[in-house]
Amino acid sequence: MLRIGVLALQGDFAEHEAIIRSLGARPCQVRLPDDLTDLDGLIIPGGESTTITRLMAMYGLLQPLRDFAAVHAVWGTCAGAIVMAKHATDLDRETLQLMDIDVERNAFGRQVDSFETDLKFSEIPGKPVHAIFIRAPLIRSVDEGVVVLSKLDTGEIVAARQGHLLATSFHPELTEDHRVHQYFLSLAEKNVAVK
Ligand code: GLN
Repeated sequence: MLRIGVLALQGDFAEHEAIIRSLGARPCQVRLPDDLTDLDGLIIPGGESTTITRLMAMYGLLQPLRDFAAVHAVWGTCAGAIVMAKHATDLDRETLQLMDIDVERNAFGRQVDSFETDLKFSEIPGKPVHAIFIRAPLIRSVDEGVVVLSKLDTGEIVAARQGHLLATSFHPELTEDHRVHQYFLSLAEKNVAVK
């Protein structure tokens, strides 16, 4: 059974855990470096990137998470995508700098500007993915080696993958459609297979 860590410092980690469990994998809360032992992948949830980055530094998680991501699948949703980015606007703390993407925090404005839409997601076949954006970031640019998976009608990037690393600016854990979680599990599985 795949063991998937969910960074449980702040934010909506419980929703991710429930979906991971419903898909037949085992979710494990990660708060300290030792919690990463024996995991096959990690999800960094939505929440507040300023708080998550502060707590990550406080608990000595920055380097252990970078070492983990070098060989395991990691997925950041919303604030989690900010935490994974090489650069984020308007954030005066260190991110993990895992993915060669530039993100703009709160790109759509404030809480009242949150919205839902249906998105084509290039590596997920079938009907569009229903996506919820809550004070979401946008992926302003990606470097070579990063695959753009999904864009809004306006052309703005909202999902990208770099090898076994995945970032989505929306919240698949808040919908009934669990195909993005399933997709992440397949990335984690593939990665375990090549290890
Ligand atoms: N606006 C938040 C941030 O900048 C992200 C919001 C979310 O994760 N829903 O961290």
